[in-house]
Amino acid sequence: MAKTVTTLADGRELIYFDAGAVAPPRTAVDRRPLDRSAPASEVRLDRATGAWVTIAAHRQARTYHPPADECPLCPSRDGRLSEIPDADYQVVVFENRFPSLATAPPDLRPGGVHPGAGHPDGGAPGADPMRTARPGDGRCEVVCFTADHDVSFADLDEDRARLVLDAWTDRTAELSVLPEVAQVYCFENRGAEIGVTLAHPHGQIYALPFTTPRTARMIEQAGRHREATGRNLFEDLLAAERADGERVVAAGEHWTAFVPFAARWPYEVHLYPNRRVADLTELTEDERAEFPARYLDLLRRFDALFATPQARRPASGRTPYISAWHQAPARNGGELALHLELFTVRRAADKLKHLAGVESGMDAFVNDIAPETAARRLRDALARPA
Ligand SMILES: [Zn+2]
Repeated sequence: MAKTVTTLADGRELIYFDAGAVAPPRTAVDRRPLDRSAPASEVRLDRATGAWVTIAAHRQARTYHPPADECPLCPSRDGRLSEIPDADYQVVVFENRFPSLATAPPDLRPGGVHPGAGHPDGGAPGADPMRTARPGDGRCEVVCFTADHDVSFADLDEDRARLVLDAWTDRTAELSVLPEVAQVYCFENRGAEIGVTLAHPHGQIYALPFTTPRTARMIEQAGRHREATGRNLFEDLLAAERADGERVVAAGEHWTAFVPFAARWPYEVHLYPNRRVADLTELTEDERAEFPARYLDLLRRFDALFATPQARRPASGRTPYISAWHQAPARNGGELALHLELFTVRRAADKLKHLAGVESGMDAFVNDIAPETAARRLRDALARPA
């Protein structure tokens, strides 16, 4: 994998990732008249639950469902200037123009260094304990999987999926060492049903200045399990699923995909490396080499769930999903094991799962599909005659 780092007109960083050891020349310059803007978000602590909330009111102005010929994630071609200066690319990562989180450069920082700097998960010392808030430091990056506007991740070949994995790994390594960053989260939202506002195949990376509630709960559970049993929770979970087999969707030499026993979503699959690691940077070459086949297989099973034709279709007609990498935070990551959680909000061809009163009001899920049934349907999804 070859990396070329460049800067956009407003100072944001953009990185080209190319397969092979040598990158093609990536010298195109961003010629758009863009102003540098100071990030303006804030993170506030909800004292009642201990969860941090990001207040990013400036994002209301962001690009919303642009027509295909104004796509900001297509390469710059035929006189049309986009976020990517080059006329073609393989995988590209750049800082989001409308970030929920961003660390201001020193000259744009009001009053110089802010008091929360270097204290992930802590508030400003001496502040009102009922109103703990910090600047929304961190970084939000966009990951474009391909220059082709009309495909989806499931349509990529294994080499390209591997290049995306390498880009996620690179970003995890670089972002997790930043002093203001507590957790690096790589994810993809696909489908308008999920709230995706740009159709171009892309994902995102959030480098967060706090540990997210779900991650914090997992670390806590793993700590309790260690105390009670002397063992690692995630190793025990994976071993139990592999021994039982009823919820296993697919398994390879290095990865296992299963529907969790207490799945929250109609179709939800967790993909674990068989050897426990903390984050993407700890995967071996053999584990990396097998990942593309495993992951593409899962995405294609999701697409095949709802009796959809196998022909290439616009992403908007396919199974909407969220694909979420769970990685142990570099500091205080406890025993969290790297894994990917893939799930859809679609529960039938014409029905979506909405997060209503019980889920949104109480964070308690009601799932209409038995995890064992979901696993069976996912196993059978690609066997169905076309
Ligand atoms: Zn596009």
